[in-house]
Formats: sequence, structure tokens, C-alpha cells
Amino acid sequence: MEKIIQEGLAAMGIDAPEGAAALMAAYGQRLLAANAVTNLTAITDPAAVARLHFLDSAALVSMADLSGKAVADVGSGAGFPGVPLRILRPDMALTVMDSVGKKMDFVREACAALGIGGVTCLWGRAEEMTEFRERFDIVVSRAVADLTLLAELCLPLTKVGGLFLAMKGPDCGDEAAQADFAVRALGGRVREIKRYDIPGADVTHAVVAVEKVRPTPPQYPRRYAQMKKRPLRG
Ligand code: SAM
Repeated sequence: MEKIIQEGLAAMGIDAPEGAAALMAAYGQRLLAANAVTNLTAITDPAAVARLHFLDSAALVSMADLSGKAVADVGSGAGFPGVPLRILRPDMALTVMDSVGKKMDFVREACAALGIGGVTCLWGRAEEMTEFRERFDIVVSRAVADLTLLAELCLPLTKVGGLFLAMKGPDCGDEAAQADFAVRALGGRVREIKRYDIPGADVTHAVVAVEKVRPTPPQYPRRYAQMKKRPLRG
């Protein structure tokens, strides 16, 4: 895993601190070991873990300057994309959130064992984290929900002047267009959709970058059942 990550980061033009690829590989090994007992990831081939978890996550460092920022990863699962980003930018403060406790236990234990500091693990639903409203400079999320619903989970947590980065498939243009009403209603504005290739994987993914331009109205986020039942569409 280490070699694939090291070479992939170089191919992506990402500057990484000394030892970052080794640390990511060590985290990946722990993930695979834990996954044998608890279901944490569907990706079980080490080379695929290196590319589809670590290099994919790393692509976000090209979207924003994360250094010194308070970053939240909503629906982080086993720590993606948040933990690789924290390894690449050790001066950012990372908060990972997930509604499944065993996933947060894994991230907490793996980070502690590997000396990855500055990581806060919150077990709970993002829409219920009212104490963190507009507290994060950057909110990231991968593979959690359709962008319309995801915007309602993530934009309330994003500071005005901050950024929400949603990791999506390459054909997310229609999804982004459909979510535009929700993004604007929640205080955001789509800045760009940027596509990127994952080295060695023959996979193209995309990031939808949303700027938070005004405060989220107090009625949002709604309860999850409401978000599902009545998506914010114009
Ligand atoms: N982001 C990780 C990744 O890309 O590997 C995990 C993706 S997994 C498919 C989706 C995760 O989102 C699950 O771990 C689930 O528990 C979490 N999730 C879904 N809705 C959530 C919510 N409202 N609040 C917090 N976590 C949520």
C-alpha cells in the first residue's frame, strides 16, 4: 500500500509530509485487520484500499487550503476522506462524525494507536449536532447521500465564508443542478465541479465545491425523515 500511495500522491502533484504514505498504509492495514471482525469497508484488496480510499481522499487537498482549518467529515465511516487529509495536513483540526458507533470506535482507536492527533470522533447524526452549527471552516463528505440531502446535513455545520466539498461520481452534473435550489436555500452557492483521476485505478471522480455565502436559516436542518420525504427542491 505504501508504494502505491507514495507514487500516487506524486502523480497527483500532492505534497505530503515525510512519512505520510507509510502512516496511511499503516492505517489501511489496521482497517483491513479490523474489517475481518467488524464490517467497516467493502474494499478488501490492499491495492484497492490504497487507491480508492487513500488516493481518492487525498484529491481534496487540491480543492482547498486545509492547513490550520477546522474540518468536519460528515458520515466518515472508517475515516474517509477525513483521516488521510489529516495525515497530509497535520496542522488541521479534524472532526469525524458518523451515526454508527463502531465506525467511530475504529477511527478513535486507530488514530490513537498510530499517533494521529487532532482528531475528534463524534458518534451521532449530523443533523442533530446543533452545538456545532456554523463551526467548521470546511465540511467534507463522501458516499453519504444525494447532494440535495447532503447539503442539508453539511451546510448548517459550515461557517459563512467556508466551504463544503462533496465527493461524487464523474456524472454528478444533473445531481448538482437538482440540488441547486437546496444549496441556495441553505446559504450556499456552487463554486465549481472539478473532476480528477485516481492514479492506477482507471477511475474518475468529482468534487462539488460549495461556498457558504450566508447563514443557514434556522429551520434547517430538518429531521432526517422530513429531508427524505420532502427534499428541498424548487
Ligand atoms: N465516507 C465514508 C467513505 O467514503 O468510506 C463512509 C461512506 S458510507 C457509504 C456512509 C456513512 O454515512 C455510513 O457510515 C453511515 O453511517 C453514515 N451516515 C449516513 N447518514 C448519516 C447522518 N445523517 N449522520 C451521520 N452519519 C451518517
